[in-house]
Amino acid sequence: MQYKSLIGMEIHVQLLTRTKLFCGCEVQFGTEPNTRVCPVCVGLPGSLPAINLHAVELAIRAGLALQCTIAGFTKWDRKSYYYPDLPKNYQISQYDLPIASQGILEYELHGERRPVRIRRAHLEEDAGKNLHDSPGMTQVDLNRTGTPLLEIVTEPDLHSAEEAFAFANELHRLLVYLGVTEGVMKKAQMRFEPNVNVIITHEGVEYATPICEVKNLNSFKALRSAVDFELQRQLAEWQRDHDYTLASCGKENRGWDDDRQETVYQRGKEEAHDYRYFPDPDLIPIVVDDAWQECVRKALPEMPLARRNRFMQDYGLGLKEATLLIEDRPTADLLDAAVKAGGPGNILAKHFISFWQQHANSRECTIAQLGVTAPRLAELANLQQLGRISSSAAATLSEALFSSDQSPAEIARQRGLEQVQDRGAIERLVDDALADNPQAVELIRLRDKKWEKSLGFLQGQVMQKSKGSASPILVREILMQKLDLNQG
Ligand code: ZN
Ligand code: MN
Repeated sequence: MQYKSLIGMEIHVQLLTRTKLFCGCEVQFGTEPNTRVCPVCVGLPGSLPAINLHAVELAIRAGLALQCTIAGFTKWDRKSYYYPDLPKNYQISQYDLPIASQGILEYELHGERRPVRIRRAHLEEDAGKNLHDSPGMTQVDLNRTGTPLLEIVTEPDLHSAEEAFAFANELHRLLVYLGVTEGVMKKAQMRFEPNVNVIITHEGVEYATPICEVKNLNSFKALRSAVDFELQRQLAEWQRDHDYTLASCGKENRGWDDDRQETVYQRGKEEAHDYRYFPDPDLIPIVVDDAWQECVRKALPEMPLARRNRFMQDYGLGLKEATLLIEDRPTADLLDAAVKAGGPGNILAKHFISFWQQHANSRECTIAQLGVTAPRLAELANLQQLGRISSSAAATLSEALFSSDQSPAEIARQRGLEQVQDRGAIERLVDDALADNPQAVELIRLRDKKWEKSLGFLQGQVMQKSKGSASPILVREILMQKLDLNQG
């Protein structure tokens, strides 16, 4: 028996706006129930919605980053259903003319880039929340009603739980990076709904298991576990009964039980005609002209994966370090700014991943939030580059930059952190070291296999004699000179 797993994703992303999609109520999590509501978002008769332009702009930004085509003309549709947390009995969404379509997002797995086609992305409003806290009673909180969402739908281009997990993480990273969403999973600002089924080839016949949509997963871990469980379950089910197919059983909606780590049947899935979609007569269509689209496109930053690769290439960072640095966009911006201010990229990058990161950790903030400006970061790195301070002196100095407005060079001078640059003094130390270690000198003169090791050893001896204060660059230069190592 051969089989192939097919997974497509629907992702609801809460857009980072101050107010709701069609009214001026503030979007606020965790406030007293039903205090962020108005006649529009609770759907009182006669109230009229007005479009939040910023939400539309964020949708365009996300669409462009996902390499989608942005629709020049889109409209709003009413999706009818009846549920206590939906007071209007319809949700305002976009049906046949989504704002973005036909895009692509690449994610990385095992060092390999894999593309996922984006079918569409449309704007819609969120529903409220049913609270089941009191026994025998359900309460409704409408604070969330009308919160702007972007629903992103992919083609079934994912083939394992691992791939779904990696893709979801990449999408999350991208949209947070772009400021499209805050992306706080605990506040359900990103919800995943994987559509899962398996194509089985058995004795020359192809069977497709029912497409099961697992609703409302709000963690990456739950997503991975649910997809994993669902694939195993469908295979087992089909093996028991070869009639467990899409053709016989149709689509299914399932929920995820996190305690029991299994999916649970909810209902047969609705088809579009059940929702009785029709254009909302209270809202005007959206026209996105080329100028508007261009304006949003121009403001797009470098994409995270591209930036990570550039950091690896230009600043000599490893994969893990580069990934860490791009995770927080202001911090990555600060590194670029410090390089622009004249700092050496490779040394700056080392400073970032060592002591600046440590300062940030101990203060429970990001490197950007430490408040050290790009020119000062650059100057500190430059002192080290020029050999005026050692790397450990740079670390010591970094701490002083918080409490002093003086330049790094001045602080280094005052605290005696500068390395000895006095050529004569270092020459004397080198002469001593050479006299003390004739064996090493001989190995170098003979160009013995280990001559480079011997040179390192001599350099160490000189540094020791200077109690670590000599400039290593100068020490090496003088050593090379005295040993006639300068040519070749
Ligand atoms: Zn409102
Ligand atoms: Mn939706």
